[in-house]
Amino acid sequence: QSWDRTQAAMANEIARACSTTGRIPRAKPKYDTLIVGAGFAGAVLAERLAADAGQRVLVVDRRPHVGGNAYDEHDAAGVLIHRYGPHIFHTNSAEVFDYLSRFTEWRNYEHRVLADVDDKLVPIPINRTTVNALYGLSLDSDAAAEAFLASRAEPVADIRTSEDVVVSAVGRELYEKFFRGYTRKQWGLDPSELDRAVTARVPTRTSTDDRYFNDRFQAMPAAGYTKMFERMLDHPNITVETGVEYRDVIGWVDADHIVFTGPIDEYFDFRFGKLPYRSLEFRHETHDVAEFQPVAVVNYPNEAVPYTRITEYKHLTGQVHDKTSVTYEFPSAEGDPYYPIPRPENQALFKRYEALADAQPNVTFVGRLATYRYYNMDQVVGQALATYRRMRAKADTLALT
Ligand code: FAD
Ligand code: UDP
Repeated sequence: QSWDRTQAAMANEIARACSTTGRIPRAKPKYDTLIVGAGFAGAVLAERLAADAGQRVLVVDRRPHVGGNAYDEHDAAGVLIHRYGPHIFHTNSAEVFDYLSRFTEWRNYEHRVLADVDDKLVPIPINRTTVNALYGLSLDSDAAAEAFLASRAEPVADIRTSEDVVVSAVGRELYEKFFRGYTRKQWGLDPSELDRAVTARVPTRTSTDDRYFNDRFQAMPAAGYTKMFERMLDHPNITVETGVEYRDVIGWVDADHIVFTGPIDEYFDFRFGKLPYRSLEFRHETHDVAEFQPVAVVNYPNEAVPYTRITEYKHLTGQVHDKTSVTYEFPSAEGDPYYPIPRPENQALFKRYEALADAQPNVTFVGRLATYRYYNMDQVVGQALATYRRMRAKADTLALT
């Protein structure tokens, strides 16, 4: 790896020298695949291409670290935090869980979230406990809770939007308390303007199950995400260069194939205009108390509060520390692209970019930004593993012909 590192560092050096002198270097460093982005999409493909296909791979990321949005680090107080907001792993896919288990041990963790509504902290997803707490009821069975919600729900003939999903399940009052304000803040759009898939991520329950997710596998990487990425990328065939922009290396590296995991509109120089992505600002704080709030995440659906949620990491990581660190999330239109915005006109624009992508035989687009999909980490891993299988099958076919 040190030789590879030297070679990549030299390539950067040459690139910088040549861009000022205008001279062309004699030989470009040679890789089978150049991967842009060291998040889940890039790291899975790098690992598979290097370890399974025996390729020489260069991974570049413009950020100064690997892990993409899942990057975690110890802050100044020594508390393990997620720089880009809370990342909780959950999946129904044994394939994805087994694959990641090669690179990490796990800490059992089931995510629970409370919402600050009517001056109370109540469970979200809405469940029987939520209804009892808000309405002073003592519904004691699924059937009773179902009857209550059915009496409030407003039938919607064609469930298309994120408003339809919730109003048809729990009625307008609970929709307004839990979803309208939160969604308007998070997306800068009314739920009636967003695909139903967005709020459909959050179920409604008649039981007292207060877990945020139903998935079979729910766990956190025991030593954190960054350590897991470091293990994935620790292979003699993989060179990793962080703090490196794709455009700054592309002319100076010889690669047969490119895997691109950044925003697809940026790759094509915004030819058809910008694809909308929603951004966030994170305010990280450390408090001189052992516990800040009762669960890892508290949601603030009230539109008068500028942030959407507060995360306290020690609940996620199990770290024991006499201080605690939390993150506030403030949604914003400007900044790093974090969320593709699911609505029909954006999907139509993405399809135009996808047609350009399909016409590039030597470039593979994978991941949340490059395929413009509101994917969780496990879905990105699943997508990357499937992409690898297709690349491998194609290479095998070519080798036979
Ligand atoms: P990314 O992680 O975005 O990686 C892409 C990388 O490419 C970036 O590091 C970027 O710097 C780099 N890059 C882009 N363009 C260039 C370029 N031109 N040159 C060099 N480098 C470039 N998922 C869950 O499963 N559970 C959760 O609890 C969860 N919480 C989340 C909370 C927040 C606030 C956010 C934003 C996302 C959350 N996710 C969660 C989703 C999760 O972050 C993504 O599914 C996953 O990280 C996507 O991986 P990726 O590799 O596709 O993209
Ligand atoms: N949502 C909401 N109120 C909540 C929780 C979620 O309105 O208390 C809506 C909101 O539109 C949010 C979406 O449901 O963007 C999906 O929530 P999730 O917690 O899955 O969002 P993520 O963790 O991806 O930001």
